[in-house]
Amino acid sequence: MPKITIKVDPDLCIGAASCVTVAPDTFRLNEENKAFVLDHGEEPRGPVYERTIDVTEEEKETILLSAQSCPTLAVFLFDEQGNQFFPEV
Ligand code: SF4
Repeated sequence: MPKITIKVDPDLCIGAASCVTVAPDTFRLNEENKAFVLDHGEEPRGPVYERTIDVTEEEKETILLSAQSCPTLAVFLFDEQGNQFFPEV
């Protein structure tokens, strides 16, 4: 299973929740209306803005769609080697 690192920039996040709608197992809003990152619906180590998780190809695709749905591009995705693949650099 590929590993990806998902990072939300809380300064960019405006709480629009599109990421939560598209990938509810991966994102949840905190009390400040900022999205934090889940691991398959769980939040080990609490609500963190950055997390590396194991995903299936299908899950990776859903998470990519959720990042693309963010109006402020506040979600950053990195592959196993640490290379950012979304937004494209
Ligand atoms: S879609 Fe973007 S702005 Fe909206 S909650 Fe998710 S990260 Fe924040």
